[in-house]
Amino acid sequence: MLVSIGTASTAAYIVAALLFILALAGLSHHETAKVGNTFGIFGMAIALVATITVALDDEMDVLPIVLLVAAMAIGAVIGLWRSRVVEMTGMPELIALLHSFVGLAAVLVGWNGYLEVEDDPGSHHADVLAAQDLLGVHSAEVFIGVFIGAVTFTGSIVAFLKLSARMKSAPLVLPGKNYINLGALAAFAGLTVWFVIDPQLWLLVLVTLVALALGWHLVASIGGGDMPVVVSMLNSYSGWAAAASGFLLENDLLIVTGALVGSSGAYLSYIMCQAMNRSFISVIAGGFGIEAPSSGDTDYGEHKEIQSVDAADLLADARSVIITPGYGMAVAQAQYPVAELTAKLRERGVDVRFGIHPVAGRLPGHMNVLLAEAKVPYDIVLEMDEINDDFPSTDVVLVIGANDTVNPAAAEDPTSPIAGMPVLEVWNASEVIVFKRSMATGYAGVQNPLFFRDNSRMLFGDAKVKVDEIIHNLPD
Ligand code: NDP
Repeated sequence: MLVSIGTASTAAYIVAALLFILALAGLSHHETAKVGNTFGIFGMAIALVATITVALDDEMDVLPIVLLVAAMAIGAVIGLWRSRVVEMTGMPELIALLHSFVGLAAVLVGWNGYLEVEDDPGSHHADVLAAQDLLGVHSAEVFIGVFIGAVTFTGSIVAFLKLSARMKSAPLVLPGKNYINLGALAAFAGLTVWFVIDPQLWLLVLVTLVALALGWHLVASIGGGDMPVVVSMLNSYSGWAAAASGFLLENDLLIVTGALVGSSGAYLSYIMCQAMNRSFISVIAGGFGIEAPSSGDTDYGEHKEIQSVDAADLLADARSVIITPGYGMAVAQAQYPVAELTAKLRERGVDVRFGIHPVAGRLPGHMNVLLAEAKVPYDIVLEMDEINDDFPSTDVVLVIGANDTVNPAAAEDPTSPIAGMPVLEVWNASEVIVFKRSMATGYAGVQNPLFFRDNSRMLFGDAKVKVDEIIHNLPD
């Protein structure tokens, strides 16, 4: 053979790692996101082929190979099916669930590492490590990998339950919650040292239980409005869990890939914390320093309603319109009629633009994806910071299924659970029309005083139906 399997697999790993870096670069702009995704798919395909080839070359028994291929085939079928049927609104909870699998895999890899080496000191693997004086390093890798994996596992399960509304989004506030988290971290540090010196089974069982409880508590302690940061933080944890598995499996590509996911997820969490005016440390420490929020049952008075016919007249007479979409636009799949309404108003000479809040919807970039899908031109889709100063000179704002991201309480009520979070200041426009089905609160569970302002009117019903009605009622 001209090139050994080892050399070829190293080359394949380098190519795959480069493709993953290109994937991340592509995913940072919506124009290049599809290409980025394709790079990622190719990188993963190369990585899988190289890893299986190396395993075959190591003369592994037939049974493990058959089991591996069968597991991959079943996983691929389930993955293809889920990604075909998942609604855009169900993506965040699906991602949270997938993160939990990475965490669980890291726990299993760690336990397997223990059974192969620490529990079987006479094994070939243990002999090799002992000869290199690396047994202590191996024990530390096992312990740290199991810890990060278990925190990621239960944390992601809680995120899944909260995002799919199977669990209340309000933060769990246990007495002394910060001490519980700090205590668990201190216990982990102490137990790691103990395990490296004397790797006993009960220590591994204990750290697994402590980490499972810590992951659950960390995410349960985060309130609805801060969930976007938690999702990207769990993405980061899943990366570090994969990197820890890479050390145990001696797979360089898994280490590189895990580090890429871990660091990019951490950076995304940091950017989102800045956008939401939240302390990064506080959020990753499970709401450290955040007190229990007020109940938020203030009486704001009566709201006013508007019908589609009158909304159509108002828009036809407007010179400038800003549309601020939110999660409800995704639920209603209203992006297509919204794009059509935008085109019709622009034909009439109305200046129509979009204001996008960084955490609108349930995924970073959620609204941008929906608007791009409906072919809304990119140049009229602006970020919150780019458009916030333009509301006072705007005739009409259409709030389409947004709630928390346009809530003035964030700016005006220091006791609000979302206090300090920058929001789209839609109330400064001349007229505000809010599309939603009821007076229900948004994801953070906080009442919205915008709905009761003098210049606000509610247009009740499904956003898609109501935007369609407006299009049909636009005067000639
Ligand atoms: P919200 O979740 O605050 O509110 C959405 C509103 O849409 C609801 O009040 C609901 O009111 C309305 N709605 C739902 N379905 C329809 C429909 N078919 N037609 C019309 N209206 C509808 O949305 P925002 O986008 O403003 O805020 C996002 C929230 O989600 C923030 O709190 C954010 O922190 C959180 N979050 C964001 C993530 C991200 O990464 N972007 C991830 C996780 C959480 P009604 O029921 O009365 O119709």
